[in-house]
Amino acid sequence: MTENIVTLPSTGSLRDRARARLERVGVPLVLGEDIHARTPITGDDLFGLEATTLDEAERAIAAAAEAFRTWRTTPAPVRGALVRRLGDLLREHQDDLADLITIEVGKIRSEALGEVQEMIDICDFAVGLSRQLYGRTIASERPGHRLAETWHPLGVVGVISAFNFPAAVWSWNAAIALVCGDTVVWKPSELTPLTSLAVGRLLDRAVAELDAPRDVHRLLIADRTVGERVVDDPRVALVSATGSTRMGREVGPRVAARFGRSLLELGGNNATVVTPSADLDLAIRSIVFAAVGTAGQRCTTLRRLIVHHDIADEVVDRLAAAYAKLPIGDPFDEGTLVGPLISRRAGEQMRQALERAQADGAEIVTGGQRLTGSAPDAAYVEPAIVRMPAQTDVVREETFAPILYVLTYDGFDEAIALHNDVPQGLSSSIFTRDQQEAERFLAVDGSDCGIANVNIGTSGAEIGGAFGGEKQTGGGRESGSDAWRAYMRRATNTVNYTSHLTLAQNVSFL
Ligand code: NAD
Repeated sequence: MTENIVTLPSTGSLRDRARARLERVGVPLVLGEDIHARTPITGDDLFGLEATTLDEAERAIAAAAEAFRTWRTTPAPVRGALVRRLGDLLREHQDDLADLITIEVGKIRSEALGEVQEMIDICDFAVGLSRQLYGRTIASERPGHRLAETWHPLGVVGVISAFNFPAAVWSWNAAIALVCGDTVVWKPSELTPLTSLAVGRLLDRAVAELDAPRDVHRLLIADRTVGERVVDDPRVALVSATGSTRMGREVGPRVAARFGRSLLELGGNNATVVTPSADLDLAIRSIVFAAVGTAGQRCTTLRRLIVHHDIADEVVDRLAAAYAKLPIGDPFDEGTLVGPLISRRAGEQMRQALERAQADGAEIVTGGQRLTGSAPDAAYVEPAIVRMPAQTDVVREETFAPILYVLTYDGFDEAIALHNDVPQGLSSSIFTRDQQEAERFLAVDGSDCGIANVNIGTSGAEIGGAFGGEKQTGGGRESGSDAWRAYMRRATNTVNYTSHLTLAQNVSFL
């Protein structure tokens, strides 16, 4: 493992790079003092920007509500054409957006490119969906009646997104919402304004080229106070909020208080069970990617490893050997696999979690140190493997950093019980060649998560499936499958095509 960070790009060069990328996308950079674009690569500020005021947010919501009146009656395949054009622009600017993501979040280049790829993929999915917003026809109990469901656009969708997927989370929501006939108001993370400006600009271009209503999409560059305005506004029919469980605890009840709808995508505390029959070559590579990718800052990051007692030493030794070779450093360097954490504070939270684990009797097998060097305000950390004597409170919390807690089990029921004994329920996986174990893991009394995988890690979901989790992860589903239904309202229609009145349940009246 790298002892020290020795070569990092200068903040000035990152500033120039960001400016060049924004120019290529066509973002006019309006400098101000309200909000600061920053890079975790050096820990420094890049630009001061103007933020959206509460009054501007109010006007943006009003404009999106007005645009909805036109957009909802635009044929869905025509709405799909807008998203198709957005996908084309994303393809054209994949490099530009990936650079901005790396600069603002610190993701390594291939993961940043992958995030933009995910946006392109969801656009493709949404374009197909724009011709498949099917309702059901239901067998009526009455003669001469037709019973059916129709799906209508819902209204303004407020998207609140987290820093760690600054562009993809928006696209999962926006691409689907737009083909469903909704308009979108987006409040991105205050930590990633540049990426949001670039993505918003591309959609504005597509809107202008296709002559769609200008306000089908509005971007609010601001902190949570403007987010709260979106949450409380009765014109926002659905609030889709991605972020910490703390945030969801505030947002969920506020939206419910005004009988709005919310779609919550909150924190995870994901686990993998490794059984004695597992293919360990496959398991080790998957575990390392799931635990260390994005420097442990994915909602689906692997945080708990539940290993059968008989193979625990071998698994931990092999993981430690793999961790020893992980290149940590500048995310723009081709060889780097682990970039910085988002902030020094995140590094501090990792240190505190490790101290709590040690107080609970943990053995830190490897990692946990913050690397020093040319970036005092950045947080480059060694990913940690920690053997725990029990699943204590610190293990049951989500620490947004690369800490992999290892627990052992003897009986399979014990593994499942440990697995489910956390407040979150996002992603899970099992490595086994035993079909009974695999099926049990996926069954009703197996994993209690929204995502349950076999012989693959917890992170890196495909857009085709519905994404989301249970318990304190919030219960929302977005992206593929039939997640689109959350962005529409359902009407049940009964049509009597006879001249007779037949009441349901054989009721006689008059
Ligand atoms: P965060 O909760 O600090 O912020 C997320 C967003 O919510 C930001 O835009 C923020 O301004 C806004 N916000 C915060 N409080 C608000 C309030 N009271 N009202 C309205 N808006 C408010 O999260 P973060 O640090 O940016 O992201 C990391 C967290 O997000 C982790 O917990 C991670 O697991 C989670 N996450 C979940 C998913 C998922 O799909 N389940 C995906 C990505 C990230």
